[in-house]
Amino acid sequence: MSEITLELSEKKSEVDLPENLLFGRVFTEHLFEVDYDESKGGWHNPKIKKFSNLNISPAAMVFHYGQSIFEGLKAYKQQNGDFVLFRPDKNIERLNRSARKMCIPEVSPELVLNAMKELVKIDRDWMPGKPGHALYIRPVMFASEPSLGVRPSDTYKLIIMLSPVGPYYPEGFKPVPILVTDEYVRAVRKGIGDCKTAGNYAASILAQREAKKLGYSQVLWLDGIEQKYLEEVGTMNIFVQFKNEVATPMLTGSILPGVTRMSVIQILRDWGYTVNERMISIEEVSNAYMTGDLIEIFGTGTAAVISSISKLKFNDQMMIFNENEAGELGTRLYNELASIHEGKIPDRYGWNVLID
Ligand SMILES: *Cc1c(COP(=O)(O)O)cnc(C)c1O
Repeated sequence: MSEITLELSEKKSEVDLPENLLFGRVFTEHLFEVDYDESKGGWHNPKIKKFSNLNISPAAMVFHYGQSIFEGLKAYKQQNGDFVLFRPDKNIERLNRSARKMCIPEVSPELVLNAMKELVKIDRDWMPGKPGHALYIRPVMFASEPSLGVRPSDTYKLIIMLSPVGPYYPEGFKPVPILVTDEYVRAVRKGIGDCKTAGNYAASILAQREAKKLGYSQVLWLDGIEQKYLEEVGTMNIFVQFKNEVATPMLTGSILPGVTRMSVIQILRDWGYTVNERMISIEEVSNAYMTGDLIEIFGTGTAAVISSISKLKFNDQMMIFNENEAGELGTRLYNELASIHEGKIPDRYGWNVLID
């Protein structure tokens, strides 16, 4: 694979970040782009260039059949001024896993890692300085061939863009109300629920909009077959703290294997908690709530890191946790992860990858 060609803008633009950075609205000055064409030797011509609109055919297969995958991770600024990526190897691995399942050609992990590091270095002035802030890294890979046939595309593009982001909850670590839905399902086993692919998110927005209308910030998804077992909460993995264990849905194939999920499992075990990856039915949650065996519920994901759940509405039952305040375990986990990201405590797992 050739080196990354740099086509940087001649004059750096002024970085003027708004006080309240809404998630994913502001983009930095440059992006990384690489193309795939079998006849040109596969992935070729990697470059970092000015962020600009794409020139792409309206017949590009991605618009019609959704052959498209993405990733999401963050670069953080540490206390000592260092810039780090959080477990990028895991996201790159997952990108190629999603690629295999969506018939998109895999890309060299070294190229993607170098591209992310170079891009963050070049647009480093866009890194917000404040705690809880970061540069969100969004790789997206999609079918670019102009053709209306339903089959894998012959050509693809991988683009990596950066977006400066503030804390997910600008008002502070606020717990959110969640609606359990059995009206809609997000994914089914043997489908594509375990891939970060466009269709899963398209399939989720109607349910999310309806939950919002009723005053909930997200839906809790149950399994696609029986609508009985917990799967995910919005676009986050879910953890349930019972009296004697912390449980999270096992990866059955319809659940996205989150990097935050994986990290939280490891931290909890090190703290001495029993963590089980298993099937958790909504009935079990509801019963445990009534007997007092349910302590708290939280979501995990790169964007929010930890999202504490204040209320869970299931049919006619309204479960309220910790008097609507953020739960203790979720808060402790958030602080631990944020401290690792920001270099306030030693990186005992070697999760941070230095950008030098
Ligand atoms: C990205 C994502 C997650 C969280 O994954 P992280 O790697 O922790 O960010 C969970 N569920 C869904 C559906 C997702 O898209």
